[in-house]
Amino acid sequence: MQFIEALKLRSKLFFLFLLITLGLVSIGIMGTTYVNAMKKNIDSLYFGSLVPVTELNEILQKYHNGLADTLYKASRKELSRSEIISNLEDALLDIDKKWKSYMSHFKRDDEMEYVEYTDMEIKSTNRYFTRILLAAKNGRDLSHISISTLEKKVSSIHRVLQKLINYEVSIANYERKKFLHTYKSILTQIGTILTLITFIVLVVLFYVFRSIQKDHSQLEIVARKLKRVNKKLENASYTDSLTTLHNRRYFNFIYDRELQRAKRSKSYITFMMVDIDFFKQYNDTYGHVEGDFALKSVAKVLKDTLKRPSDYVFRLGGEEFGILLSDTSESNSAKIAREICDAVRDRELKHEKSTVCEFVTVSIGVVCCIADEALDNEILISRADEMLYEAKESGRDRYVITSNVSSAATKSIEEDRDAS
Ligand code: GH3
Ligand code: MG
Ligand code: MG
Repeated sequence: MQFIEALKLRSKLFFLFLLITLGLVSIGIMGTTYVNAMKKNIDSLYFGSLVPVTELNEILQKYHNGLADTLYKASRKELSRSEIISNLEDALLDIDKKWKSYMSHFKRDDEMEYVEYTDMEIKSTNRYFTRILLAAKNGRDLSHISISTLEKKVSSIHRVLQKLINYEVSIANYERKKFLHTYKSILTQIGTILTLITFIVLVVLFYVFRSIQKDHSQLEIVARKLKRVNKKLENASYTDSLTTLHNRRYFNFIYDRELQRAKRSKSYITFMMVDIDFFKQYNDTYGHVEGDFALKSVAKVLKDTLKRPSDYVFRLGGEEFGILLSDTSESNSAKIAREICDAVRDRELKHEKSTVCEFVTVSIGVVCCIADEALDNEILISRADEMLYEAKESGRDRYVITSNVSSAATKSIEEDRDAS
Protein backbone atom coordinates (compact mmCIF):
# COMPACT_ATOMS: atom_id res chain seq x y z
CA MET A 1 0.00 0.00 0.00
CA GLN A 2 3.04 2.26 -0.13
CA PHE A 3 2.08 3.34 -3.63
CA ILE A 4 -1.13 4.91 -2.22
CA GLU A 5 0.93 7.03 0.14
CA ALA A 6 3.15 8.11 -2.76
CA LEU A 7 0.12 9.45 -4.68
CA LYS A 8 -0.98 13.07 -4.46
CA LEU A 9 -4.31 13.81 -2.70
CA ARG A 10 -6.23 14.23 -5.96
CA SER A 11 -4.79 10.98 -7.38
CA LYS A 12 -5.63 9.16 -4.13
CA LEU A 13 -9.28 10.21 -4.36
CA PHE A 14 -9.34 9.40 -8.09
CA PHE A 15 -7.95 5.92 -7.36
CA LEU A 16 -10.65 5.37 -4.76
CA PHE A 17 -13.34 6.59 -7.14
CA LEU A 18 -12.00 4.24 -9.86
CA LEU A 19 -12.04 1.28 -7.47
CA ILE A 20 -15.62 1.91 -6.35
CA THR A 21 -16.73 2.40 -10.00
CA LEU A 22 -15.02 -0.86 -11.03
CA GLY A 23 -16.69 -2.64 -8.12
CA LEU A 24 -20.13 -1.29 -9.05
CA VAL A 25 -19.64 -2.15 -12.76
CA SER A 26 -18.61 -5.74 -11.95
CA ILE A 27 -21.61 -6.12 -9.60
CA GLY A 28 -23.80 -4.73 -12.42
CA ILE A 29 -22.40 -7.20 -15.00
CA MET A 30 -22.72 -10.11 -12.59
CA GLY A 31 -26.24 -9.07 -11.63
CA THR A 32 -27.34 -8.91 -15.30
CA THR A 33 -25.79 -12.32 -16.06
CA TYR A 34 -27.42 -13.94 -13.05
CA VAL A 35 -30.81 -12.32 -13.66
CA ASN A 36 -30.70 -13.69 -17.25
CA ALA A 37 -29.80 -17.16 -15.97
CA MET A 38 -32.71 -16.98 -13.53
CA LYS A 39 -35.07 -15.82 -16.28
CA LYS A 40 -34.08 -18.89 -18.32
CA ASN A 41 -34.76 -21.08 -15.29
CA ILE A 42 -38.17 -19.55 -14.73
CA ASP A 43 -39.00 -19.89 -18.46
CA SER A 44 -38.14 -23.57 -18.52
CA LEU A 45 -40.08 -24.13 -15.29
CA TYR A 46 -43.11 -22.27 -16.63
CA PHE A 47 -43.20 -23.32 -20.28
CA GLY A 48 -41.46 -26.68 -19.82
CA SER A 49 -43.58 -27.98 -16.98
CA LEU A 50 -46.40 -25.84 -15.60
CA VAL A 51 -48.09 -24.97 -18.93
CA PRO A 52 -47.95 -28.59 -20.24
CA VAL A 53 -49.38 -29.91 -16.95
CA THR A 54 -52.28 -27.45 -17.23
CA GLU A 55 -52.90 -28.44 -20.87
CA LEU A 56 -52.87 -32.17 -20.05
CA ASN A 57 -55.28 -31.62 -17.15
CA GLU A 58 -57.61 -29.67 -19.44
CA ILE A 59 -57.48 -32.51 -22.06
CA LEU A 60 -58.32 -35.01 -19.32
CA GLN A 61 -61.23 -32.87 -18.16
CA LYS A 62 -62.50 -32.70 -21.76
CA TYR A 63 -62.55 -36.52 -22.03
CA HIS A 64 -64.55 -36.71 -18.81
CA ASN A 65 -66.84 -33.66 -18.95
CA GLY A 66 -66.92 -32.93 -22.68
CA LEU A 67 -67.11 -36.43 -24.27
CA ALA A 68 -68.00 -39.08 -21.65
CA ASP A 69 -70.52 -36.85 -19.88
CA THR A 70 -72.28 -36.04 -23.19
CA LEU A 71 -72.54 -39.73 -24.07
CA TYR A 72 -73.90 -40.66 -20.61
CA LYS A 73 -76.54 -38.01 -21.01
CA ALA A 74 -77.20 -39.16 -24.59
CA SER A 75 -77.74 -42.73 -23.34
CA ARG A 76 -80.30 -41.35 -20.88
CA LYS A 77 -81.82 -39.21 -23.68
CA GLU A 78 -81.20 -36.04 -21.67
CA LEU A 79 -79.75 -34.15 -24.66
CA SER A 80 -81.05 -33.31 -28.10
CA ARG A 81 -79.20 -34.59 -31.17
CA SER A 82 -77.85 -31.18 -32.08
CA GLU A 83 -76.57 -30.66 -28.50
CA ILE A 84 -74.85 -34.06 -28.62
CA ILE A 85 -73.22 -33.25 -31.99
CA SER A 86 -72.04 -29.78 -30.95
CA ASN A 87 -70.74 -31.02 -27.53
CA LEU A 88 -68.79 -33.86 -29.16
CA GLU A 89 -67.43 -31.65 -31.94
CA ASP A 90 -66.35 -28.90 -29.52
CA ALA A 91 -64.67 -31.34 -27.14
CA LEU A 92 -62.80 -33.19 -29.93
CA LEU A 93 -61.64 -29.91 -31.47
CA ASP A 94 -60.51 -28.57 -28.10
CA ILE A 95 -58.64 -31.79 -27.28
CA ASP A 96 -56.94 -31.71 -30.67
CA LYS A 97 -55.92 -28.04 -30.22
CA LYS A 98 -54.59 -28.53 -26.66
CA TRP A 99 -52.71 -31.71 -27.64
CA LYS A 100 -51.03 -29.93 -30.58
CA SER A 101 -50.07 -27.06 -28.27
CA TYR A 102 -48.70 -29.54 -25.72
CA MET A 103 -46.66 -31.29 -28.44
CA SER A 104 -45.17 -27.97 -29.60
CA HIS A 105 -43.32 -27.45 -26.25
CA PHE A 106 -39.78 -28.63 -25.81
CA LYS A 107 -39.56 -32.32 -24.94
CA ARG A 108 -36.71 -34.27 -23.43
CA ASP A 109 -35.50 -37.43 -25.20
CA ASP A 110 -36.51 -39.67 -22.31
CA GLU A 111 -39.98 -38.10 -22.36
CA MET A 112 -40.45 -38.41 -26.13
CA GLU A 113 -41.15 -42.12 -26.17
CA TYR A 114 -44.05 -41.87 -23.76
CA VAL A 115 -45.41 -38.76 -25.49
CA GLU A 116 -45.53 -40.68 -28.79
CA TYR A 117 -47.31 -43.54 -27.07
CA THR A 118 -49.86 -41.09 -25.56
CA ASP A 119 -50.28 -39.54 -29.03
CA MET A 120 -51.21 -42.95 -30.41
CA GLU A 121 -53.64 -43.55 -27.54
CA ILE A 122 -55.27 -40.14 -27.96
CA LYS A 123 -55.68 -40.69 -31.71
CA SER A 124 -57.20 -44.13 -31.12
CA THR A 125 -59.58 -42.81 -28.41
CA ASN A 126 -60.50 -39.83 -30.61
CA ARG A 127 -61.29 -42.21 -33.50
CA TYR A 128 -63.72 -44.00 -31.20
CA PHE A 129 -65.47 -40.71 -30.31
CA THR A 130 -65.41 -39.54 -33.97
CA ARG A 131 -67.21 -42.71 -34.98
CA ILE A 132 -69.92 -42.00 -32.40
CA LEU A 133 -70.11 -38.40 -33.65
CA LEU A 134 -70.60 -39.64 -37.24
CA ALA A 135 -73.28 -42.03 -36.05
CA ALA A 136 -75.05 -39.14 -34.31
CA LYS A 137 -74.79 -37.04 -37.43
CA ASN A 138 -76.25 -39.96 -39.48
CA GLY A 139 -79.26 -39.95 -37.20
CA ARG A 140 -78.49 -43.13 -35.27
CA ASP A 141 -80.00 -43.56 -31.81
CA LEU A 142 -77.27 -43.24 -29.16
CA SER A 143 -79.34 -44.54 -26.25
CA HIS A 144 -78.00 -48.05 -26.88
CA ILE A 145 -74.36 -47.07 -26.82
CA SER A 146 -72.16 -49.50 -24.85
CA ILE A 147 -71.41 -47.78 -21.55
CA SER A 148 -68.82 -50.38 -20.60
CA THR A 149 -66.85 -49.76 -23.83
CA LEU A 150 -67.13 -46.01 -23.16
CA GLU A 151 -65.88 -46.43 -19.57
CA LYS A 152 -63.03 -48.66 -20.73
CA LYS A 153 -61.92 -46.10 -23.34
CA VAL A 154 -62.17 -43.16 -20.90
CA SER A 155 -60.38 -44.93 -18.04
CA SER A 156 -57.67 -46.12 -20.44
CA ILE A 157 -56.98 -42.61 -21.80
CA HIS A 158 -57.26 -41.32 -18.20
CA ARG A 159 -54.47 -43.66 -17.08
CA VAL A 160 -52.27 -42.75 -20.04
CA LEU A 161 -52.75 -39.00 -19.56
CA GLN A 162 -52.42 -39.20 -15.75
CA LYS A 163 -49.08 -40.96 -16.18
CA LEU A 164 -47.92 -38.16 -18.47
CA ILE A 165 -49.21 -35.54 -15.99
CA ASN A 166 -47.34 -37.26 -13.13
CA TYR A 167 -44.21 -37.25 -15.25
CA GLU A 168 -44.58 -33.53 -16.04
CA VAL A 169 -45.22 -32.75 -12.34
CA SER A 170 -42.06 -34.61 -11.34
CA ILE A 171 -40.16 -32.64 -14.03
CA ALA A 172 -41.69 -29.40 -12.64
CA ASN A 173 -40.51 -30.37 -9.15
CA TYR A 174 -37.05 -31.06 -10.52
CA GLU A 175 -36.98 -27.69 -12.37
CA ARG A 176 -38.16 -25.92 -9.21
CA LYS A 177 -35.39 -27.53 -7.19
CA LYS A 178 -32.89 -26.54 -9.89
CA PHE A 179 -34.23 -22.97 -9.88
CA LEU A 180 -34.01 -22.70 -6.07
CA HIS A 181 -30.49 -24.10 -6.17
CA THR A 182 -29.41 -21.58 -8.85
CA TYR A 183 -31.13 -18.80 -6.89
CA LYS A 184 -29.29 -19.75 -3.69
CA SER A 185 -25.92 -20.07 -5.41
CA ILE A 186 -26.43 -16.68 -7.14
CA LEU A 187 -27.26 -15.10 -3.77
CA THR A 188 -24.16 -16.69 -2.22
CA GLN A 189 -21.91 -15.60 -5.09
CA ILE A 190 -23.26 -12.02 -5.13
CA GLY A 191 -22.95 -11.89 -1.33
CA THR A 192 -19.34 -13.18 -1.46
CA ILE A 193 -18.33 -10.77 -4.20
CA LEU A 194 -20.06 -7.85 -2.47
CA THR A 195 -18.27 -8.70 0.78
CA LEU A 196 -14.96 -9.00 -1.09
CA ILE A 197 -15.41 -5.67 -2.90
CA THR A 198 -16.55 -3.95 0.32
CA PHE A 199 -13.53 -5.37 2.12
CA ILE A 200 -11.10 -4.20 -0.61
CA VAL A 201 -12.73 -0.74 -0.74
CA LEU A 202 -12.53 -0.50 3.07
CA VAL A 203 -8.86 -1.52 3.09
CA VAL A 204 -8.01 0.98 0.34
CA LEU A 205 -10.14 3.63 2.09
CA PHE A 206 -8.26 2.99 5.30
CA TYR A 207 -4.89 3.48 3.59
CA VAL A 208 -6.07 6.50 1.59
CA PHE A 209 -7.47 8.24 4.66
CA ARG A 210 -4.49 7.29 6.83
CA SER A 211 -2.18 8.76 4.23
CA ILE A 212 -4.38 11.88 3.87
CA GLN A 213 -4.29 12.27 7.65
CA LYS A 214 -0.49 11.83 7.61
CA ASP A 215 -0.15 14.47 4.87
CA HIS A 216 -2.48 16.71 6.84
CA SER A 217 -0.54 16.40 10.10
CA GLN A 218 2.73 16.98 8.23
CA LEU A 219 1.17 20.06 6.68
CA GLU A 220 0.05 21.22 10.12
CA ILE A 221 3.57 20.73 11.53
CA VAL A 222 5.07 22.67 8.60
CA ALA A 223 2.43 25.41 8.99
CA ARG A 224 3.20 25.71 12.73
CA LYS A 225 6.95 25.86 12.00
CA LEU A 226 6.34 28.48 9.33
CA LYS A 227 4.26 30.52 11.76
CA ARG A 228 7.04 30.36 14.37
CA VAL A 229 9.67 31.32 11.79
CA ASN A 230 7.47 34.17 10.56
CA LYS A 231 6.99 35.42 14.12
CA LYS A 232 10.75 35.26 14.69
CA LEU A 233 11.38 37.08 11.43
CA GLU A 234 8.80 39.70 12.32
CA ASN A 235 10.33 40.14 15.78
CA ALA A 236 13.80 40.33 14.24
CA SER A 237 12.65 42.98 11.81
CA TYR A 238 11.34 45.06 14.73
CA THR A 239 14.26 44.45 17.12
CA ASP A 240 17.60 46.14 17.52
CA SER A 241 20.20 43.37 17.52
CA LEU A 242 22.65 45.05 19.94
CA THR A 243 20.30 46.11 22.74
CA THR A 244 17.29 43.83 21.93
CA LEU A 245 15.09 46.93 22.29
CA HIS A 246 12.49 47.76 19.60
CA ASN A 247 14.12 49.45 16.61
CA ARG A 248 13.31 52.62 14.65
CA ARG A 249 11.07 50.68 12.24
CA TYR A 250 8.87 49.50 15.08
CA PHE A 251 8.92 53.00 16.60
CA ASN A 252 7.43 54.45 13.39
CA PHE A 253 4.61 51.92 13.55
CA ILE A 254 3.89 52.18 17.30
CA TYR A 255 4.26 55.98 17.43
CA ASP A 256 1.49 56.53 14.85
CA ARG A 257 -0.75 53.91 16.45
CA GLU A 258 -0.39 55.18 20.04
CA LEU A 259 -0.80 58.80 18.99
CA GLN A 260 -4.06 58.01 17.18
CA ARG A 261 -5.28 56.07 20.21
CA ALA A 262 -4.46 58.97 22.57
CA LYS A 263 -6.14 61.44 20.17
CA ARG A 264 -9.31 59.32 20.11
CA SER A 265 -9.47 59.00 23.92
CA LYS A 266 -8.09 62.54 24.49
CA SER A 267 -5.59 61.17 27.00
CA TYR A 268 -1.99 61.90 28.02
CA ILE A 269 0.81 60.97 25.68
CA THR A 270 4.47 61.31 26.66
CA PHE A 271 7.49 61.08 24.40
CA MET A 272 11.09 61.15 25.72
CA MET A 273 14.30 61.41 23.79
CA VAL A 274 17.24 59.95 25.77
CA ASP A 275 20.84 60.62 24.69
CA ILE A 276 24.08 59.42 26.36
CA ASP A 277 26.35 62.30 27.36
CA PHE A 278 29.80 62.62 25.80
CA PHE A 279 29.51 59.19 24.23
CA LYS A 280 31.99 60.02 21.50
CA GLN A 281 34.63 60.59 24.21
CA TYR A 282 33.55 57.34 25.92
CA ASN A 283 34.19 55.37 22.72
CA ASP A 284 37.47 57.19 22.19
CA THR A 285 38.59 56.38 25.75
CA TYR A 286 37.38 52.80 26.28
CA GLY A 287 36.99 51.52 22.72
CA HIS A 288 33.96 50.46 20.66
CA VAL A 289 33.44 47.15 22.44
CA GLU A 290 33.12 48.85 25.80
CA GLY A 291 30.94 51.46 24.05
CA ASP A 292 28.60 48.70 22.94
CA PHE A 293 28.52 47.29 26.46
CA ALA A 294 27.60 50.76 27.83
CA LEU A 295 24.80 50.99 25.24
CA LYS A 296 23.44 47.62 26.37
CA SER A 297 23.67 48.67 30.05
CA VAL A 298 21.71 51.89 29.40
CA ALA A 299 19.14 49.89 27.39
CA LYS A 300 18.74 47.50 30.34
CA VAL A 301 18.24 50.39 32.77
CA LEU A 302 15.53 51.81 30.50
CA LYS A 303 13.82 48.42 30.21
CA ASP A 304 13.97 47.82 33.98
CA THR A 305 12.58 51.25 34.79
CA LEU A 306 9.67 51.06 32.34
CA LYS A 307 7.70 47.96 33.24
CA ARG A 308 4.09 48.74 32.27
CA PRO A 309 2.87 46.82 29.19
CA SER A 310 1.86 50.14 27.63
CA ASP A 311 5.41 51.58 28.00
CA TYR A 312 7.57 51.37 24.91
CA VAL A 313 11.37 51.78 24.74
CA PHE A 314 13.15 52.10 21.37
CA ARG A 315 16.71 52.50 20.19
CA LEU A 316 16.24 55.24 17.63
CA GLY A 317 19.86 55.12 16.40
CA GLY A 318 23.44 55.50 17.71
CA GLU A 319 23.31 56.34 21.45
CA GLU A 320 19.82 57.80 21.20
CA PHE A 321 16.71 56.14 22.71
CA GLY A 322 13.01 56.95 22.46
CA ILE A 323 10.38 56.32 25.15
CA LEU A 324 6.63 56.40 24.56
CA LEU A 325 4.20 56.40 27.52
CA SER A 326 0.40 56.44 27.53
CA ASP A 327 -1.92 57.83 30.20
CA THR A 328 0.96 59.33 32.24
CA SER A 329 0.57 62.85 33.65
CA GLU A 330 3.27 65.51 33.32
CA SER A 331 4.37 65.08 36.95
CA ASN A 332 4.60 61.30 36.60
CA SER A 333 6.48 61.65 33.29
CA ALA A 334 8.94 63.99 35.03
CA LYS A 335 9.32 61.47 37.87
CA ILE A 336 10.11 58.68 35.41
CA ALA A 337 12.64 60.86 33.54
CA ARG A 338 14.38 61.62 36.81
CA GLU A 339 14.40 57.93 37.77
CA ILE A 340 16.05 57.09 34.44
CA CYS A 341 18.77 59.71 34.91
CA ASP A 342 19.41 58.46 38.47
CA ALA A 343 19.36 54.79 37.48
CA VAL A 344 21.85 55.28 34.61
CA ARG A 345 24.19 57.25 36.86
CA ASP A 346 23.80 54.62 39.60
CA ARG A 347 25.03 51.92 37.21
CA GLU A 348 28.43 53.57 37.80
CA LEU A 349 29.89 52.97 34.36
CA LYS A 350 33.21 54.76 34.62
CA HIS A 351 33.49 57.76 32.25
CA GLU A 352 36.61 59.72 33.10
CA LYS A 353 36.29 62.07 30.12
CA SER A 354 32.82 63.32 31.12
CA THR A 355 32.83 66.84 32.49
CA VAL A 356 29.53 66.40 34.35
CA CYS A 357 30.02 63.17 36.29
CA GLU A 358 32.63 60.45 36.79
CA PHE A 359 30.06 57.89 35.48
CA VAL A 360 28.07 57.53 32.28
CA THR A 361 25.01 59.82 32.34
CA VAL A 362 22.10 60.61 30.06
CA SER A 363 20.19 63.75 29.11
CA ILE A 364 16.46 63.52 28.39
CA GLY A 365 14.09 65.78 26.45
CA VAL A 366 10.49 65.13 27.56
CA VAL A 367 7.23 66.26 26.06
CA CYS A 368 3.90 65.41 27.73
CA CYS A 369 0.46 66.61 26.68
CA ILE A 370 -3.18 65.62 26.35
CA ALA A 371 -3.63 64.57 22.75
CA ASP A 372 -6.44 65.93 20.60
CA GLU A 373 -7.27 65.97 16.91
CA ALA A 374 -5.42 69.29 16.44
CA LEU A 375 -2.12 67.77 17.64
CA ASP A 376 0.46 67.67 14.85
CA ASN A 377 1.92 64.17 14.41
CA GLU A 378 5.55 65.30 14.23
CA ILE A 379 5.42 67.92 16.96
CA LEU A 380 6.12 65.50 19.84
CA ILE A 381 9.38 64.39 18.20
CA SER A 382 10.58 67.88 17.39
CA ARG A 383 9.62 69.26 20.84
CA ALA A 384 11.36 66.32 22.60
CA ASP A 385 14.43 66.97 20.46
CA GLU A 386 14.34 70.63 21.49
CA MET A 387 14.03 69.72 25.18
CA LEU A 388 16.98 67.34 24.81
CA TYR A 389 19.00 70.19 23.31
CA GLU A 390 18.06 72.34 26.28
CA ALA A 391 19.06 69.59 28.72
CA LYS A 392 22.46 69.33 27.01
CA GLU A 393 22.86 73.09 26.98
CA SER A 394 21.93 73.49 30.63
CA GLY A 395 24.60 71.04 31.85
CA ARG A 396 23.62 67.42 30.83
CA ASP A 397 22.75 64.53 33.25
CA ARG A 398 19.22 65.91 33.52
CA TYR A 399 15.83 66.09 31.90
CA VAL A 400 13.87 69.06 30.58
CA ILE A 401 10.11 68.65 30.29
CA THR A 402 7.46 70.65 28.46
CA SER A 403 3.74 70.39 27.86
CA ASN A 404 3.78 73.11 25.24
CA VAL A 405 3.20 71.45 21.88
CA SER A 406 2.48 74.54 19.78
CA SER A 407 4.68 75.04 16.75
CA ALA A 408 5.11 78.70 17.86
CA ALA A 409 7.22 77.47 20.79
CA THR A 410 9.41 75.53 18.36
CA LYS A 411 9.86 78.62 16.22
CA SER A 412 10.94 80.84 19.16
CA ILE A 413 13.53 78.26 20.19
CA GLU A 414 14.90 78.14 16.67
CA GLU A 415 15.19 81.93 16.77
CA ASP A 416 17.05 81.71 20.12
CA ARG A 417 19.42 79.09 18.68
CA ASP A 418 20.06 81.24 15.61
CA ALA A 419 20.74 84.28 17.83
CA SER A 420 23.26 82.40 19.98
P1 GH3 B 1 26.59 64.72 23.57
O1 GH3 B 1 26.78 64.68 25.04
O2 GH3 B 1 26.40 66.08 23.07
O3 GH3 B 1 25.51 63.82 23.15
O4 GH3 B 1 27.91 64.19 22.96
P2 GH3 B 1 28.11 62.84 22.23
O5 GH3 B 1 29.57 62.58 22.11
O6 GH3 B 1 27.38 61.74 22.90
O7 GH3 B 1 27.45 63.05 20.86
P3 GH3 B 1 27.85 62.72 19.39
O8 GH3 B 1 26.58 62.66 18.56
O9 GH3 B 1 28.91 63.61 18.97
O10 GH3 B 1 28.44 61.25 19.48
C1 GH3 B 1 27.67 60.10 19.40
C2 GH3 B 1 28.60 58.95 19.37
O11 GH3 B 1 27.95 57.69 19.63
C3 GH3 B 1 29.29 58.77 18.04
C4 GH3 B 1 29.52 57.26 17.89
O12 GH3 B 1 30.90 56.95 18.05
C5 GH3 B 1 28.78 56.69 19.06
N1 GH3 B 1 27.99 55.60 18.61
C6 GH3 B 1 26.89 55.64 17.84
N2 GH3 B 1 26.39 54.36 17.64
C7 GH3 B 1 27.23 53.51 18.32
C8 GH3 B 1 27.25 52.09 18.50
O13 GH3 B 1 26.43 51.34 17.99
N3 GH3 B 1 28.24 51.58 19.27
C9 GH3 B 1 29.19 52.35 19.86
N4 GH3 B 1 30.12 51.79 20.59
N5 GH3 B 1 29.17 53.68 19.68
C10 GH3 B 1 28.23 54.28 18.94
MG1 MG C 1 23.46 61.80 19.98
MG1 MG D 1 25.30 61.85 23.00
